[in-house]
Amino acid sequence: MSEMHVPKSCDTMVALPAGTTHGQTLFAKNSDRPWDECQPLELHERRSHDADARTECQFISLPEVDVTWRHVGSRPWWCWGYEHGFNEHQVVIGNEGLGSKFDSAQEPRLIGMEILRLGLERGRTAREAVDCMTGAITEYGQGKFDNDANVRTYDNGYIVADPQEAFVIETAGHEWAVQRVEGAVGISNVYSVETAYESLSDTAESTAIEHGWWTAGQLPFNFADAYSANDRTQGSGAMRRRRSCAVLGARSGGIDTAAMMSLLRDHSDATQPDEPFRTDLTGKGICIHFDEGPKGGNTAASLVADLCADGSRLPIYWCSFYSPCQAPFFPVFLQGTPPERLAIGGQHPTEDSPWWRFLRLAHLAREDAPHRVAEIRSRWAALESDLMISAYPLAIDAKRMIDAGDEAFTQQRLTAYMQDNVDRMLATTEDLIAQFSATSIAAG
Ligand SMILES: [Zn+2]
Repeated sequence: MSEMHVPKSCDTMVALPAGTTHGQTLFAKNSDRPWDECQPLELHERRSHDADARTECQFISLPEVDVTWRHVGSRPWWCWGYEHGFNEHQVVIGNEGLGSKFDSAQEPRLIGMEILRLGLERGRTAREAVDCMTGAITEYGQGKFDNDANVRTYDNGYIVADPQEAFVIETAGHEWAVQRVEGAVGISNVYSVETAYESLSDTAESTAIEHGWWTAGQLPFNFADAYSANDRTQGSGAMRRRRSCAVLGARSGGIDTAAMMSLLRDHSDATQPDEPFRTDLTGKGICIHFDEGPKGGNTAASLVADLCADGSRLPIYWCSFYSPCQAPFFPVFLQGTPPERLAIGGQHPTEDSPWWRFLRLAHLAREDAPHRVAEIRSRWAALESDLMISAYPLAIDAKRMIDAGDEAFTQQRLTAYMQDNVDRMLATTEDLIAQFSATSIAAG
């Protein structure tokens, strides 16, 4: 596996209503990043903008829209964009790093995570977000480009979902292909949109022919074959994609929130896509743990979005920090205000940053695995069980109250609920850190 062609790892999955136990869309994402790159969780309010306003991305400035939608994004501390996020219209998006055949471009472009944020800010449906994102890709480009800010750039794959439908977008430079999701699918760091796309950028085929990556007249045009830099059957991304697709396929009709969480926490040998979920620390699977020194990667943040198409309850966004196998998923409701503390975190460790505290806990756990890991998991299993029991009745009740016009009180109630849960989670984190530090074999 060439590092050059696999700039980062990540996994994104979606199951449409026909594939799930409760008939609602479920979306899941593991964001795998450099092991010490802090990724806080940020709320951005709906905003109106002046007619001449601009959106200032890191290397590109583009015209702003009239209104940007309320959303939450999981944001690497240095970046304007997100690894995954969700907005007030139940649009949810996650991305993947891909490696195309294009050389690094000389001119500035959009970063893939910025395109994801544009989709959340501007899309009221998955379709609207896809149109916004592909429009930006065509006009401004993305993928590898030279920059003096030391930003690692790469091509991107996305899943864009709403309660009714979902799409996979895959990109190469200014080119893209969009495939509608049928049933359930997982994507990873490997091109997967071949010939079953529903739309392509206008120049996808001609550009590939110009570069000698496709033969004129050869039909049907295969986007993945034309643009993928590496063998799409080999490597970690190909194995992880096979694993998530196998699990989702085998459970079709029976996928629930807990199954999506188990998949994000899975340590199975991905070369055996049909084996049961594994929780022992194998060093393999969809949950990524750093093991290669300062450049190693780790799952930085995760999301399971439980959307709702029929208005029977509010959507619930289950979020977690750092290794999902050693952290709880806590529920976020966009109809309330998530605790501001979740958004704290920068380049260097600080004790007030939840993200950095979960990293600290994971590192202490490594000193005496699997004993400490087992203890951590039992504490989180108890908390998560309580949260699962309380979140769904609240989601139903709060929706009923909002529909009855009691919006302000419901907002306070949801905000207090999220605050209580996060307080409880962080108190447990501190408790575990204190306990393990007292017997730590490594100082600091
Ligand atoms: Zn793990």
